[in-house]
Amino acid sequence: MTNAERFETLCESVRGCMLCPLAKTRNRAVPGEGPIDAEIMFIGEAPGMNEDKQGRPFVGAAGQFLEELLGAAGLKRDEVYICNVLKCRPPGNRDPLPTEIETCRAYLDEQIDMVDPLVIVTLGRFSMARYFPGQTISRIHGRPKESGGCFYVPMFHPAAALHQQSLRDTIIEDFRRLPEIVERARGARHPLPTPVTTPEPERPQATQMHLFE
Ligand code: URA
Repeated sequence: MTNAERFETLCESVRGCMLCPLAKTRNRAVPGEGPIDAEIMFIGEAPGMNEDKQGRPFVGAAGQFLEELLGAAGLKRDEVYICNVLKCRPPGNRDPLPTEIETCRAYLDEQIDMVDPLVIVTLGRFSMARYFPGQTISRIHGRPKESGGCFYVPMFHPAAALHQQSLRDTIIEDFRRLPEIVERARGARHPLPTPVTTPEPERPQATQMHLFE
């Protein structure tokens, strides 16, 4: 199976998933979207009302703001991969339950394995908890951690920052620094070969010529 076929199979499994009770209350599951070879992956929390209707991640107000933030980082939506910790909407947008996160984990694990991004940006506490357990976002936002060839960057959730001016400024600043982090991640994943220096052939020792010899 090619990577693209594996990817489509995964999306189909998510769309038909019946592994937890959210399957009964959702309209559409939201596998995620973006190029399979994206360098950057964004992981949000769970679909909201609009995402549940359309079957696509981040298409409501938070999604609009995310696109603005991507713009601040010089990125376009269609060049990054976007998904969520949960693939189905929790009723009334309540927080994901630990059992739901656990049940859905294998889908996200497989997405990460397939895309193999250079940089994973976590949006909000639930995706942050995967990589920064016990940390608080206000302390570590925007600061990358490198592990196993991938850079993890915790960011505030766009929905949280949308209506709060100080957080809004902070998240925009954090996104502006993303290109620099991507550049570092590229360098770490594909280090430039160290130039092979060939030793200079030994020259015969120059002897001092005396003027009137
Ligand atoms: N919030 C999320 O965390 N994910 C979405 O897809 C939409 C809003």
